[in-house]
Amino acid sequence: MRVVVVGAGIVGLATAYTLSRAGATVRCLDAGEPMGARSAGDTRIFRVAHGDPGLVAEARRASELWDDWSMTAGRTLVGGERAIVSGPRVPVWSAAMTAAGAIHRVVGGRRSVPGSTPIAELDLGDGVLHDPAGGVLDLAAAGAFLREAVGPERAEVTAVDRDGTVHLADGREERADRPDAVVVAAGAGTPAMAAPLGIDVPAELEHHARFTFAGPADRPCHLDGRPDGPLASTYQHRTRAGHWAVGGHLPDEDTAWELGAEEVARRSRAAVVDHVRRHLPDLDPTPVGELRCTPMRGAGDGVHRAREGAVHVVWGDNLAKLAPRIGELVAADVVGDTPVGGGARDHAP
Ligand SMILES: Cc1cc2nc3c(=O)[nH]c(=O)nc-3n(C[C@H](O)[C@H](O)[C@H](O)COP(=O)(O)OP(=O)(O)OC[C@H]3O[C@@H](n4cnc5c(N)ncnc54)[C@H](O)[C@@H]3O)c2cc1C
Repeated sequence: MRVVVVGAGIVGLATAYTLSRAGATVRCLDAGEPMGARSAGDTRIFRVAHGDPGLVAEARRASELWDDWSMTAGRTLVGGERAIVSGPRVPVWSAAMTAAGAIHRVVGGRRSVPGSTPIAELDLGDGVLHDPAGGVLDLAAAGAFLREAVGPERAEVTAVDRDGTVHLADGREERADRPDAVVVAAGAGTPAMAAPLGIDVPAELEHHARFTFAGPADRPCHLDGRPDGPLASTYQHRTRAGHWAVGGHLPDEDTAWELGAEEVARRSRAAVVDHVRRHLPDLDPTPVGELRCTPMRGAGDGVHRAREGAVHVVWGDNLAKLAPRIGELVAADVVGDTPVGGGARDHAP
């Protein structure tokens, strides 16, 4: 079977890798630098904790697959840092993890959390959920491993037809050498490619930025759903050694696409630096790095798949942690092992 995968971000590469391990002949095409768009940068949070039992189950399977990939790659792709979750979502996420049979623990009240972020000073309210399978996802290493295995090619795809014909920006058509299937995993480019096929992918994008600070980085990843000033929620985790990333979610009017990436980054920086000054005093509050992103507004967690003819389309937000599982699901769709369907979603940073 011959397959073209459009997009060499973590999702396209994971899918191409899984398909080729299943015996398919795969070409993976990217208009730009592989891993250079939404998958850019060094690390992400991996967590089993989600607000939906279906997503918890997918993340547990992803955890197993990350371990497999780590062994093949010869390096640890998801670290053992653990993840903690605080804020009003704790009861719901704990219930979802219980329903999915995922090991976790909720430490309640105002008790301090040994070895964690200095959240003890904050009102822990609903307690803190400990996700022992969570940790730092080394996305740069995962991307390097997959690029090496997949060998993506530089090519801009202008359209795909339901019969699998792939149109390239340089005018070439692959009609004569049409693949048996096409997977569209083009990130922000996916809505425009899916629309002519009658597949409606939400296209309302927003801007987001996270910041890196120098300081101690030997703590669990932390998702905090409690508002702090203009931030509706925050997340933080290790990046490179001795560096800590902090991101926060501003109200919709501060992240609107029309404001532009610069302005949203400026507003985010002000809010995140203020948060760091007040709650993370052991970090140097001057950001030493910045990573920008264009998530789909309000998409939260979750992966979605759809099919029209020979074309399979995959999209969602916060997909890095699930990448090996997405590759497994989409590869099974392509080779026909599983029915194609939508995915669960919930709304979380
Ligand atoms: C600041 C930030 C923090 C994040 N935190 C987390 C986190 O903690 N945990 C988590 O799991 N996720 C997190 N995410 C989200 C996660 O990184 C993304 O969901 C994931 O990387 C998306 O991968 P992708 O392959 O779908 O998209 P992309 O990486 O954007 O890949 C799509 C590729 O398609 C290519 N393409 C587009 N159009 C075309 C075309 N016409 N022809 C050919 N190629 C095309 C692009 O060049 C691109 O390389 C975060 C993202 C950011 C930026």
